[in-house]
Amino acid sequence: MKKQVAEISKEITFEAAHYLHNPQWDRVKNLEVFRKCAGYRKDDPKASHYPHGHSYRLAVTVQGPIQEDTGFVADFRVLKEILQREVYGRFDHRFINKEVEPFKNDQHFQPTAENMARVIWQLLEPFLKKEKVRMVQVTLWETPDSSAVFKGNSKG
Ligand SMILES: [Zn+2]
Repeated sequence: MKKQVAEISKEITFEAAHYLHNPQWDRVKNLEVFRKCAGYRKDDPKASHYPHGHSYRLAVTVQGPIQEDTGFVADFRVLKEILQREVYGRFDHRFINKEVEPFKNDQHFQPTAENMARVIWQLLEPFLKKEKVRMVQVTLWETPDSSAVFKGNSKG
């Protein structure tokens, strides 16, 4: 029988803190664009680079042939281990701007859901390749109704 291809997804959640800040903009513009996610506070003129938290939810979808012996595309347990190690281990209960690569080294690279989804894709890709599956998409929810999808279609 010809092998059939399927997509499977694994999800994890983690808690992390961040702020969004464009150093080329003044306080007013940062607050106007980034609002609650800004490192400034509307009601506190002294506040800058102040963090706030999100409960993030991550879903990673991979594609591959359904193996005849297991009936799996990949073992969910193995996917979970990779997500736990590479994402949860790095991001959970961290202040992303100060503690997590590459954000901590580049204040112009905003830890938005879009950029985090892109970074997570790059972190996971080598390990998922080893499991002989192809990454399809990374979805990162910053709030229950706001998410970013990255499909690996851009380089760099
Ligand atoms: Zn935020």
